[in-house]
Amino acid sequence: MAAIRHKNTTPELLVRKALHALGFRYRLHYRSLPSTPDLVLPRYRAVINVNGCFWHGHDCYLFKLPATRTDFWREKIRSNMKRDMENVEDLLDSGWRVCIVWECSTRGSIHRELFPFTAQAIAAWLEGDEQFIEFTGGESAADIPKYGFELRESVAAEQPIPYGQPNDQ
Ligand SMILES: [Zn+2]
Repeated sequence: MAAIRHKNTTPELLVRKALHALGFRYRLHYRSLPSTPDLVLPRYRAVINVNGCFWHGHDCYLFKLPATRTDFWREKIRSNMKRDMENVEDLLDSGWRVCIVWECSTRGSIHRELFPFTAQAIAAWLEGDEQFIEFTGGESAADIPKYGFELRESVAAEQPIPYGQPNDQ
């Protein structure tokens, strides 16, 4: 089960560092919960998983089935996705709130530059009562500059931040 989760990845370290800077404290890779979430914040009854887009089968530009052993990988990723869904359901059923930060929301210079805003959105979710939230990057590499532009515009206009908003499950 833990075999698919790659601990202490660059995206995970980015999330940890940003939340820590905002004053949040968390437990790492907490084994007493389904799926051993990457970050657990008991005070907020919240878990945060930082998902690699390939391993977790994200529908984004970072995911591409390998050209060799394609059937093997398709099945592997499909079973990872099924397990992810079951884990999220188990956590929600046990009264935990779940946040998924996808790797694509942390990749590329624009996303990294904008990550403090993403971290603020995660912080707002932690302090709210929404059960589930996901943060994703642009839908393709070409979208990233556009997302960055929209974010700057919205911040300038003091509107809610479009970048990193939840996708309804
Ligand atoms: Zn992705």
